[in-house]
Amino acid sequence: MASRVLLVVYDNGSHIHSFPMGAAYIAAALRQKGHEVVVWNQDSTHSPDESLTGYLDENPFDVVGIGVIGGYYQYRKLLSLAGAVNRSRRRPFFLLGGHGPTADVRYFLRKTQADAVVMGEGEETVVELVAALENRTPLTDVRGLALRDGPEVTVTPGRPLIADLDAIPWPARDLFPVEYYRLLRMPHATSADFCLPVLSGRGCTFRCTFCYRMDTGHRARASEPILDEIEYLQKTWNITYIDFMDELLMISRQRTMEFCESILRRGLKFKWYCNGRLNYAAPEVLDLMKRAGCVFINYGIESVDNTVLKNMQKALRYEQIVPGIENTLAAGISPGLNMIFGNIGDNRDTLRRAVDFLIRYDDQAELRTIRPVTPYPGSPLYDEAVRRGLLRDCEDFYEHKHLNSDLMAVNFTELTEDEFYEALAEANSRLAENYYAKSRERMLRQIDRLYRQRDATFRGFRPV
Ligand code: SF4
Repeated sequence: MASRVLLVVYDNGSHIHSFPMGAAYIAAALRQKGHEVVVWNQDSTHSPDESLTGYLDENPFDVVGIGVIGGYYQYRKLLSLAGAVNRSRRRPFFLLGGHGPTADVRYFLRKTQADAVVMGEGEETVVELVAALENRTPLTDVRGLALRDGPEVTVTPGRPLIADLDAIPWPARDLFPVEYYRLLRMPHATSADFCLPVLSGRGCTFRCTFCYRMDTGHRARASEPILDEIEYLQKTWNITYIDFMDELLMISRQRTMEFCESILRRGLKFKWYCNGRLNYAAPEVLDLMKRAGCVFINYGIESVDNTVLKNMQKALRYEQIVPGIENTLAAGISPGLNMIFGNIGDNRDTLRRAVDFLIRYDDQAELRTIRPVTPYPGSPLYDEAVRRGLLRDCEDFYEHKHLNSDLMAVNFTELTEDEFYEALAEANSRLAENYYAKSRERMLRQIDRLYRQRDATFRGFRPV
């Protein structure tokens, strides 16, 4: 027997249309078991939240699922869409998933009135859950679930992580408007590039205190299946640029080099972006990455102050950051220089040095800004905020403190709130002035080349 499952992809309200990999993986796992999966893709249709009620009234489904991470925007979208599901006359079994609900299942089940949360990695749990619903066997036998029955919540035993990531089916991209998502603009993408994400693995071996990733350890996919998937994307959708969106492709020097050698051996040509660690940014690794097509490595630097780095358990020192960035630039790859402010030990001086660093190593690949650190539920920093009495609980976080990702949720510094925001205003003003001064120079150079040198290759004024 097959079930009909509706996966809801919320409108992310952004000009960045990041392909919803989580939903596509879940869809593929369900479809492999013969279920019919339909996607209600508000991200591309921008239909109002309320229209989900009418859609469910007119189209019968056995299960409806919504997955969210833990941002303030996603939280509010989830509450609104949950209301739309609950108002349907044909409300199906209502399921939540993702990092956000997993961090505090009782809170999310109460707020949304959903029936269950798939906790953590979802492919196996959701398949067993749908089978249990079909066969009317106890849902409490399914591992990795939180189940609501009125005000009561039952949490079933945890499920081990999927050991072999190549054993699960590739994301069901065909259920989504790929023509829409492949227009995602990544650093160094030209107007002719088509971009889509691929996972090279899942997880990370580090334990930064602000990170809400709850699974431990890293699981790499084998190189050949990753390249099979990329070849399929090239042939099917003309994809020329791969966004390796998993937490960390550069999990070690050995793994990074082995993957690059596989790309070169196979002769596949594509640009790519990945998340990296400066611990492994050695010249021989970076040169190989460049030859294999890498154009951008996103580094989570977070701070250039060793005390702050130690406080956040970043397992990284300033003495590693500088050579790593210089090696990356020397290899001809743009480094993503991510900084956050407001960690334990931060002050005006640490922020000023972070801005100096961003300007010194700015290669204009992207506009850099600095945001406050956010102690998301599920992270060690959240526990610290609760321990210090700065946060009460999940409800306090979502309803009163985390109102915008660019505003401070909790003050871990010695600065007053006004001083904190004035420091951030100054820092981001300096970054914006640097970026737009360089953009202006670039524009003037284009004008010069076009009119004074009569450059016949000119293809219009472009930001990159
Ligand atoms: S922030 Fe990045 S490096 Fe740190 S634990 Fe999370 S995924 Fe790993």
